[in-house]
Amino acid sequence: MKVADNLKTIKETIAKACEQSNRRPEEIKIIAVTKYVSIERAKEALDSGIVDLGENREEGLTAKWEVLQNKPTWHFIGSLQSRKVKNIIDRVDYIHSLDRLSLAQEINKRAKRIIKCLVQVNVSGEESKHGLAPEEVRSFIDEMKQFSNIEVAGLMTMAPYTNDREFLRECFKRLKNIQLDIQRLELDYAPCTELSMGMSNDYAIAIEEGATMVRIGTALVGEE
Ligand SMILES: *Cc1c(COP(=O)(O)O)cnc(C)c1O
Repeated sequence: MKVADNLKTIKETIAKACEQSNRRPEEIKIIAVTKYVSIERAKEALDSGIVDLGENREEGLTAKWEVLQNKPTWHFIGSLQSRKVKNIIDRVDYIHSLDRLSLAQEINKRAKRIIKCLVQVNVSGEESKHGLAPEEVRSFIDEMKQFSNIEVAGLMTMAPYTNDREFLRECFKRLKNIQLDIQRLELDYAPCTELSMGMSNDYAIAIEEGATMVRIGTALVGEE
């Protein structure tokens, strides 16, 4: 399948989800997750109108960055080891996986400008998932005040792999509620306007529940 054809289908699904929830499609950024695919395929995505690319590993980001440079907006979406921060920090526009203080310290130290970060939350409580527990988010964000190179642009979650649509919806609702709690604080270092949630199999539900960024790999660029 051409990326352009997949993108057309995805945009139709987004339009429907927006209609369901009284939202506008312009509010939603489609991040093409290119971790499984070649640089050629990533280029095809950009040619079909995609602006945002997501990678979950340092090696993948670096390889594609060498070729594409800063033409796309780059999102680092995978769990990030502190020692790798220095290799990606000048290349990324957003880090979606901020989940611990030591990582924030390293980002703040290495950054030469303000980095937009999303705090990763494990809303489902699954053991295998990275991210803060919902009840830890507030105090974690308080701590971010000390880091002048970090802006808490929003929150991110990975929902469990399940076909239980109601459970998925519940997870996304929970993240939205945490976002509203943070926004009420009106912190200048944590505007928290972004909600990064929804992947190939659940992005429509995520949008109905308030996603502003969907991270789509398989359904958009495929898996190889
Ligand atoms: C791989 C990945 C995605 C995209 O997954 P698909 O199911 O292929 O759309 C989204 N977010 C993260 C963090 C990922 O690692």
